[in-house]
Amino acid sequence: MIVTDDIGARRGANVDTVDRVQMPSGPVQPTAQRDLFDTAIEQFHIAADVIGLDDDMRRILEVCQTELTVNFPVEMDDGSVQVFTGHRIQHNNGPGPTKGGIRYHQDVTIGEVRALAMWMTWKCAVVGLPFGGAKGGVRVNPKLLSQSELQNLTRRYTAEISSMIGPTRDIPAPDVNTNPQIMAWLMDTYSMQVGYSVPGVTTGKPLVLGGSAGRNEATGRGCVFAIESAAKALDLDLSSTRTAVQGFGNAGSIAAGLMADGGSRVVAVSDSRGGTANPAGLDLAAVHEHKRRTGSVIGFAGGEDISNREVLEVPCEVLIPAALENQIDADNATRIQARIVAEAANGPTSPGADDILYDRGIFVIPDILANAGGVTVSYFEWVQAIQAFPWTESDVNTRMREIMDRAFAGVHETATTHGTHMRTAALVRAIGRVAEFTRVRGIFP
Ligand code: NAD
Repeated sequence: MIVTDDIGARRGANVDTVDRVQMPSGPVQPTAQRDLFDTAIEQFHIAADVIGLDDDMRRILEVCQTELTVNFPVEMDDGSVQVFTGHRIQHNNGPGPTKGGIRYHQDVTIGEVRALAMWMTWKCAVVGLPFGGAKGGVRVNPKLLSQSELQNLTRRYTAEISSMIGPTRDIPAPDVNTNPQIMAWLMDTYSMQVGYSVPGVTTGKPLVLGGSAGRNEATGRGCVFAIESAAKALDLDLSSTRTAVQGFGNAGSIAAGLMADGGSRVVAVSDSRGGTANPAGLDLAAVHEHKRRTGSVIGFAGGEDISNREVLEVPCEVLIPAALENQIDADNATRIQARIVAEAANGPTSPGADDILYDRGIFVIPDILANAGGVTVSYFEWVQAIQAFPWTESDVNTRMREIMDRAFAGVHETATTHGTHMRTAALVRAIGRVAEFTRVRGIFP
């Protein structure tokens, strides 16, 4: 389990501007302490049962195929040396090179990185990308590092995992507390090691290094595309809805802005320190400005402060968990009032809570579908790097919409056919696809 600091608002900003904020007293803790990989495995077997997956295939797919743990030294500004622990885990490379972000957080665990790697495999499969899944994580609170320490850490971690990554092997991207500048250092370190520039080794790079137009907004935008599809399926007019967003970082703040652009009233948002709510609607530009000045959304004059748990429970039609895992559990699932829950975050809902939400008629767009816009545009960035041919933002958004709409329609149809909720349906499609790759390729030797 992790509790993040708030660096998302500065995503893409010069890392010099990262203030050395101490952890706030009494940060909101995720509710469940369960190893995240146990959740991923439980979800896997629920879907595997639906498609009658045989035991041999289950044994192959329920483990991560390559796992690297590195303990590496970093020279700090005061001349001392600290040793950090990082992981890079590839769940399955059957469909192609593996793909997945790198997370910097003081509570990163190997179980969490395994779960996130497995979910990346399913996410790529559900939207039909030619990638398997991977994830990386370093156990560090990046807010306590200077810019040069952050650069040293990134370069040394990259060097430690460089035998595993590469544009045809495993392609990292940003995740919680990592940003385009960090991807630039990663790309430069890898390129220095092989002796030539390799822009395709990572995605989420700054535009000047071959980053894709629209990548920064892609996760939030894709999530809103999925919400629009769900609203159509439910005959819900989004322009007369209320939206609540937990996590006002990259994914959450973009999704909130796009929902407001579409006419929805954004009634509550939160970050790691707490939330602010106004049933009449929040002025998002003013919330951004307040957060830029104070470092948090709490204390915003145009809203009432509320806790992170309360943000999930406010009256609204659309709820977007966009922070961390383990936020909706069997306890608070009974109190959620939304009609649609769109999981911009990875793993925000426990399997027990899934059933409660389904029984209550709440339509959950699962993480591997709702936040797949990010990896989809990362795929576009990788394609643009290989072809050395940049696309316009409108090309990127149009193609992403096609992929998201098609994936939503497929998952929705599977959910209807099997009479399951959308998560199981998404997993059924994804696991079926990866199992097929594995079957057709066979086992070597
Ligand atoms: P980020 O670091 O930009 O933002 C995270 C936000 O969550 C911050 O505002 C932080 O203050 C807030 N937060 C942390 N703990 C919280 C808590 N307990 N309650 C409420 N808010 C809390 O990170 P991000 O890239 O926006 O990622 C958010 C989630 O989206 C993660 O689960 C990540 O894995 C997932 N995701 C991100 C991408 C992407 O492209 N960035 C893609 C797919 C999935």
